[in-house]
Amino acid sequence: MARYTGPKCRLCRAERAKLFLKGQRCTSAHCPMNNPSECGLPGRDPRARSRKPTDYGMMLREKQKMKRLYCMLEKQFYITFQEAARLPGKTGESLIKLLECRLDNIVFRMHYASSRAQAAQLVNHGHIFVNGKRVDIPSCRLKVGDVVTLSPKAQKMALIKDNLAELSKNGTVPWITLDVDAMKGTFNAIPQRSEVKELENINEQLVVELYSR
Ligand code: SF4
Repeated sequence: MARYTGPKCRLCRAERAKLFLKGQRCTSAHCPMNNPSECGLPGRDPRARSRKPTDYGMMLREKQKMKRLYCMLEKQFYITFQEAARLPGKTGESLIKLLECRLDNIVFRMHYASSRAQAAQLVNHGHIFVNGKRVDIPSCRLKVGDVVTLSPKAQKMALIKDNLAELSKNGTVPWITLDVDAMKGTFNAIPQRSEVKELENINEQLVVELYSR
């Protein structure tokens, strides 16, 4: 599976937004976005700061933000957009629903992993079971009611135990049920657009406009 392997914080700086790509570091004081002036961005170039973004520039940034948030590359993301465009209803909302159904995203939301990139790695390495069967494709789309568990080896991994202990302290998103002791999560519903808090500052309509040009 092709994936971005460069510095993750650089992506946040490029988008001038926290994309939460590095797990628990993103919520700690070590996140460079907590102090933008120290990391030199946004606006290292004063001329760039004053330059008004073009319509195309704004659409591009929204698309990049959403794509990077879900740890996807352009081709994969565009294919998902095309699928969303074929569905009834608003394309932007359908796109978000399709992205939320991805296995790597759900593994992240179940707190087995501290970031979507880490979740994709767990899936790739065969540590994730869906309804009792091993699934090693991060882009696999789950259906409502699917149950996600861990391989016997993964259940003993300190990384996963730490993630579960630390991240489940604040509960899970409303559309997922997690039994921490049994290491078993259930995907109960496809979330509505308004429920996905990370997308509060993203305008998916601009993504639709960009791809519809
Ligand atoms: Fe880096 Fe995470 Fe902060 Fe983004 S949110 S700049 S990935 S630490």
